[in-house]
Amino acid sequence: MKADARIIPIVNALKAPPPRAEHLLVPIEGELLDKRQRRVRDLRISVTDRCNFRCVYCMPKEVFDDDYAFLPRSKLLSFEEIVRIAGIFVEQGVEKIRITGGEPLLRKHIENLIEQLAKLPVELTLTTNGSLLKKKAQALKDAGLHRVTVSLDGIDDAVFKRMNDVDYAVGDVLDGIAAASAVGLAPIKVNCVVKRGANDDQIVPLARHFRNSGHILRFIEFMDVGASNGWRMDEVVPSADVVARINQEFPLEVVDANYHGEVAERWRYVDGAGEIGVISSVTQAFCSSCTRIRLSTEGQLYTCLFAQSGHDLRNALRQGGGNERLRRLIASVWRERDDRYSEIRTAATTLPGRGKVEMSYIGG
Ligand code: SAM
Ligand code: SF4
Ligand code: SF4
Repeated sequence: MKADARIIPIVNALKAPPPRAEHLLVPIEGELLDKRQRRVRDLRISVTDRCNFRCVYCMPKEVFDDDYAFLPRSKLLSFEEIVRIAGIFVEQGVEKIRITGGEPLLRKHIENLIEQLAKLPVELTLTTNGSLLKKKAQALKDAGLHRVTVSLDGIDDAVFKRMNDVDYAVGDVLDGIAAASAVGLAPIKVNCVVKRGANDDQIVPLARHFRNSGHILRFIEFMDVGASNGWRMDEVVPSADVVARINQEFPLEVVDANYHGEVAERWRYVDGAGEIGVISSVTQAFCSSCTRIRLSTEGQLYTCLFAQSGHDLRNALRQGGGNERLRRLIASVWRERDDRYSEIRTAATTLPGRGKVEMSYIGG
């Protein structure tokens, strides 16, 4: 078939490491580096462990039911505490802050936190399921948020409802995306987690929908985060397949990475209809350039998405003492960091009983 000849070079290109700006890896004197010479660049802050969706790959209903023990209010970091920690991270080299959760727009007065964080010299973004975006887009923009990423696992209403498992209509999320775009929180990244047999029939329809929209559609491989999503390798659709499927319908060509450590591999439509991204967390691990650290809702610091335990910053904060103590604690956590879970993922490490933290708790 003619299309196959086009796909093969693309699939081969996907197997090769994406272009990297290697010169940026050279350590700057005095810079905070972990054991694998990685900088701390991105801070992800989870502001709630609660969510109004029950996405099948993240918070399956059977586990996150009425009896599930979500964090009590007293355990959450206050906005003041979050801003203080974020400020210290910025001094240590963080350039990007992402607000996440759970569903971050469920946290009361979230725009007040955004307003405080927007004073820091960072790129400030937020990841949301989009359900409250229509209502909140203007307030978020006014507070100083730069961009949003919206999760959307299907364009067909029935498929989308099956994925969020709370009967939430796709049209409402699309309205949220339109509202965010209208107030200037753009370009919007639209993230789709692909799970074989559940929503992989949405790959091409989603691509079709977002071509020429100015928004960047990104496909994420289903990951073995946490211990409750019943992850199986055969349910992962490799990014190479995603690209091949879209390429058959809408020819694609590879685009260079924007910066070292960019996790999404970028592709653009040959006809100029825009660009897509694929995040190959499972089939092509990117631990060697991972510059992310995560702050959980209750102030635990995690150096890897697949960590089994965190480092308690809340206690350190609440015990009193100045920023210097916190700074030293954060620096020592990063210097000791040796994580590379996705590179060494094995049958043993993916066992459900291993005690990894949930994505909805740590923040995606
Ligand atoms: N509730 C918000 C949302 O869904 O955008 C923010 C939090 S959510 C945990 C952040 C991101 O993690 C979402 O894009 C979601 O699709 C992704 N995610 C959750 N579980 C995942 C998994 N098992 N594999 C891959 N991505 C996952
Ligand atoms: Fe909620 Fe986001 Fe997890 Fe879906 S992916 S259940 S929207 S936290
Ligand atoms: Fe970073 Fe851990 Fe993911 Fe590797 S597995 S890319 S170290 S978060």
